[in-house]
Formats: sequence, C-alpha cells, structure tokens
Amino acid sequence: MVQVPLVTPQIGEEETMAVLEVLRSGMLAQGPRVNEFETLFAQYCGVKHAVAVNSGTAALHAAVYACGLQAGDAVITTPFTFVATANSILMQDADVVFADIQEDTLCLDPDAVRAAVREGVKAIMPVDLYGQVYDERIDAVASEHDLIVIEDAAQSMGARRGDRKAGSFGNAACFSFYATKNMLTGEGGMLTTDDPHVAEMARRLRHHGQSEQTRYEYHDLGYNYRMMDLQAAIGIAQLNRIDELNAKRRENAKRLDAGLSTVRGIRLPAVTADNHHVYHQYTIIVEEEYPLSRDELLESLRQKGIGCAVYYPKPLHLHPHFARMGFREGDFPVAERLARSVLSLPVHPSLTPEQVQTVVEAIARP
Ligand SMILES: *Cc1c(COP(=O)(O)O)cnc(C)c1O
Repeated sequence: MVQVPLVTPQIGEEETMAVLEVLRSGMLAQGPRVNEFETLFAQYCGVKHAVAVNSGTAALHAAVYACGLQAGDAVITTPFTFVATANSILMQDADVVFADIQEDTLCLDPDAVRAAVREGVKAIMPVDLYGQVYDERIDAVASEHDLIVIEDAAQSMGARRGDRKAGSFGNAACFSFYATKNMLTGEGGMLTTDDPHVAEMARRLRHHGQSEQTRYEYHDLGYNYRMMDLQAAIGIAQLNRIDELNAKRRENAKRLDAGLSTVRGIRLPAVTADNHHVYHQYTIIVEEEYPLSRDELLESLRQKGIGCAVYYPKPLHLHPHFARMGFREGDFPVAERLARSVLSLPVHPSLTPEQVQTVVEAIARP
C-alpha cells in the first residue's frame, strides 16, 4: 500500500471552476484565456514575452527554431536530463554536444562547457535540474564566445538565482506544465524571452509557420503546438498558487534535510548560495558508506509504501538513440557515476510532517 506518494497533483476548486467556465464559454481551443495566461506568466518571470504551447518539448523546439539554430550548428547541453532537452536540438537538425555535470548540483558544469566549445557551436542549453537555476558562470562562457543560451526551466517554475526568476536567463527559456511538474496544466508549456523576434518566430512555429499578423501566409515549416484555453485556465489558477506550493516544497525539503543530515552515507541536495531552490525533486546521493546500495534502498522504501524514483537512471549519451552518434561509456564520468547513486524522495506540497518523518526513519533505519 502507498503510504507516502512521490507526487500528488495540486488541483483545487479554483482550477475546477476555471475549467467549467471555459467549457461553458464554448471557446475550447486557443483564445482569450491563453492570451491572459501569457501576459500573467511573462509578468511573473519578469520578461517581456511569453508564448504558450502544448508541451515543454514544443517550447524547447520552438526556442531552438526561434533562435535560428539549424543543420551545421551545434548546441552544448547536459547528458543528465530528460530526453526532450537534447531531442529539441535534433528537431532542427542541429548537433548535440554533451558536457559533463557538476558533482554537487548535478547541473551542467561551466568548465566542461568551456572545454566543449568548438567550431560550429552556436548555443548552450543548460537545465535547471530538480528546481535550481543553472550555474551563472555558463552565462560568462556564453558571452565570451558569443553563444545563444536556451534555459530549460521545465523543472524550475518559481526558482530564483539572485533576484531574478527562472525563465529570465538566456535568450529564451522553456517551461513544462506536465502533470507532475511544480505547476501543471496536464500537458502544456511556455517559452519566455525578452526578444520580440524570438517571440514572433515561436508564435509562427506554433501555428504552421503562419505569422499571427498575416493569416494564411506560411513563412516556414510549422506545427500545431497550440495550447487550449482549457489548459490556460488551469495554468492561471496554478500561477496564483505557485509561490505557496513552492514554499511548502521548501518546508518539506528543510524537514528532510534536518532528519537526514546525520545519516551516514546519505548526501543531501546541494543548494548554492545564490539559488532559491523550488525542489521539483528532492534528490539524495546514496554513497558507499550507506549500508544498502541505491537500488536496495529504493526497493526497501517501496516495500514500505514510500514513493521514490531515480532521475535519471542512465545519462542520455548511453541510450542507443545517442550512442549511435558516437558517444560511449566513459565520456561523461561524473554523470555516469551519479546516475548510479541518485534517489528522489517525496517532497510535494501535500506531504504531512508525519509522512516526512516516515521517509526519514525508513532511510535512517533501513
Ligand atoms: C518535463 C521536462 C521536459 C519536457 O516537458 P514535456 O511537457 O513533458 O514535453 C523537458 N525538459 C525537462 C528537464 C523536463 O523535466
């Protein structure tokens, strides 16, 4: 029996009423609610433009397209992420250049990025992994080499680095509102940018290559990446609550930190001084000194009804899809080693202090 679920979608009365209102209006597809959601979302992130789409993957593809990346260009990214990050680069026929991750944050390593810069590299795509904004030294590498930055903020809605919000770094940033993310619409995504040209190009890709100014004139290959008003209505309700929901995640993380800090062989999530982490995942490292292996601990927790999962069990470069491009075991040793030791624990907003205690005890006395 599940005692402590790993995720619990936060759907309340406000979301339910907003959806009913849209259903009754008869305007189900992209309409006024999408416009309103975009305006509010841009304000929240502190950027000029937001373009709503129907998934985080679509937002990433739109960013790669809108930033002008194409065949012959290369983009540096992390192998320790969800597959959509790297796939969005391939969708525009550009090349993926992986660089290794940092030991503590598990985010893309700025030194590895610098070392990976070569002829043809036009952009960097850092990921705000687990809900923390990527290392600012990557921005320095980008400006040194005049590279575009696309921030994959799918996991970091509401996070901050310094006083700036996730989604305001780089030339464009991308969010996902998939059902398990900190903020959800079921399926859905958003591109944010300060650049009006990037916003316009993203709007074109979303709608079959058609400019929203001149209808039925197709400028380029495009897709149907549009968001429904139904989804936007949920998104607006969620946006009203995101800070409150993230505050609960941070409280739970603090309790987990306190409970687990004395357990030998468990390394707590690192948080850099300038980061306001929103804990999309609370991910521990199970070290050698712990009495069980990572996989044994995972099994033991599941048997006690505690939801937990490995994000990610295998770095992207070791999957057949990418290995085919010439990557092999040993290319990114930090990512490979940490993929064998990470374990994500429940941290979602509806956990009770008792449930947190159950998790702590199950790890302290396996
Ligand atoms: C969820 C996620 C995506 C993809 O978003 P979808 O909405 O599922 O398409 C991309 N990158 C990262 C890091 C993610 O966590």
